[in-house]
Amino acid sequence: DVQLSDRVNSIKPSPTLAVTNRAAELRAAGKNIIGLGAGEPDFDTPDHIKAAAIDAINNGFTKYTAVDGTPGLKKAIIAKFKRDNGLSYEPNQILVSSGGKQSFFNMALALLNEGDEVIIPAPYWVSYPDMVLVADAQPVILETTQENRFKITPDQLEAAINERTRVVVLNSPSNPSGVAYTLEELKALGEVLKHYPDIIIATDDMYEHILFGDQPFCNILNACPELYDQTIVLNGVSKAYSMTGWRIGYAAGPAKLIGAMKKVQSQSTSNPNSIAQVAAEAALNGDQGCVAEMVKAFKARHDFVVKSLNEIEGVECIHADGTFYAFPSFQKVIDSRPEFADDIALAEYLLLEAGVALVPGSAFGAPGNLRLSFATSMDVLEDAIARIKKALS
Ligand code: PLP
Repeated sequence: DVQLSDRVNSIKPSPTLAVTNRAAELRAAGKNIIGLGAGEPDFDTPDHIKAAAIDAINNGFTKYTAVDGTPGLKKAIIAKFKRDNGLSYEPNQILVSSGGKQSFFNMALALLNEGDEVIIPAPYWVSYPDMVLVADAQPVILETTQENRFKITPDQLEAAINERTRVVVLNSPSNPSGVAYTLEELKALGEVLKHYPDIIIATDDMYEHILFGDQPFCNILNACPELYDQTIVLNGVSKAYSMTGWRIGYAAGPAKLIGAMKKVQSQSTSNPNSIAQVAAEAALNGDQGCVAEMVKAFKARHDFVVKSLNEIEGVECIHADGTFYAFPSFQKVIDSRPEFADDIALAEYLLLEAGVALVPGSAFGAPGNLRLSFATSMDVLEDAIARIKKALS
C-alpha cells in the first residue's frame, strides 16, 4: 500500500472545487443543475488582454522568464500599487506567482515552522487553513457573527495573539462574506498589531476592485502606514480582470520575505507562465473600464440576490460591500427542519432537489450559512432563487 505523508493526510481537497465538480457530474448524468459554487467571474477575459497574449505567442515570448516575474510585469505591478493604493515598492519587493494561491503558499512555506500559529478570521477563504497545515503550522480561527458583519474586533485579535503567532491574515472584501473593513476598523486592528513587530500581516486584496459602495478601497497599510515593514500585500489579476485560468497573482512586502518566497518558487514551479505574464501586464497597464463594467453587473445582481434571499422564510442575508458572493444564513431553516442536520445536509438537499449547487458555510468556518456566487446571468439567478424557494416551501 502507498504510505502517504502526515502532511498530505492533514489537508482536504478544496471544497469549492469539489462542489463545482459534483455539479458537473450531475449535469453529465443528465440533471439540470445551476452551479453557483464557483469562485470566478462569468465574463470573458477582455479582448485587449487576450490580444497581448496572442502577440506574445507570435513574438516567441514562450521561454523561461525571471523566476519572480518579467521586468515589464513587475513595473506594471509597482505602478498599480502607486496608482491604486498609494504604496511604494522596489522590484526586489515584488514576486509574481502562478495565481494568488501560490503567493500565499510561498509565504506559508517561507515563514512557518512546526508549532507556529496563523490567525485567520472566519468565515475565511477555504485554502488559508490548509496551506498553513501543509507548512506544519496551526491555523487559529477567530469566530465572528453575522450581527457584527463577520468582522473581528481589536480585543478579539489581541486575545488571540501569543508568542507562537507568526501571521495574521486579513481578507477585505472577503470571500465568502463579501464584507469589507472600513478604514477606521483597520486602524483599530493596526493599533493592536503595531505592538507586535515580529508578526507578519498578510492582507489579501484579491477582491479590491469589486466594491459596490462609494468608499474607495483601503487595506491596513492605508490605515496604518507604519506597519509597512511587517505587511505583505497579496493580490492578482484573476478576479478583477476575469483571468482565473491564466494563473497570475503577486505579492509585495519586505524584501527579505519576498526573497525567501522567490527561493521557494525557484525550487518548485519557477516563473509563472510567460504568456500570461504579458497578458497580466496589459491588464494592469491598460484601460480599467472593463473592471467598472463588470462591477456594475455584479452590483445589480447582488442587489437582486440579497433582496430575494431575504424574502425566503428563515433566510437572512446581509448586504455585501463587494465581491461576487452572497453569504446568507439558513440557520433558522436548519433549526426548524429536523431533516437538515446542518448546512452540509441542506446544501446536499438543494443540490439534489432544487438542482442548485451552493457551498456549505462550514467549508469557510461558518456553519449555518451557504455561499452563493452571483457570477452568472440575472436569468440564471432568478431561476436559482425560485428553485431554492420552492424546494424549501
Ligand atoms: N484569495 C482569495 C480570497 C480568493 O478567493 C482567491 C480565489 O478564489 C485567491 C486568493 C486566489 O486566486 P487565484 O489563485 O485564482 O489567483
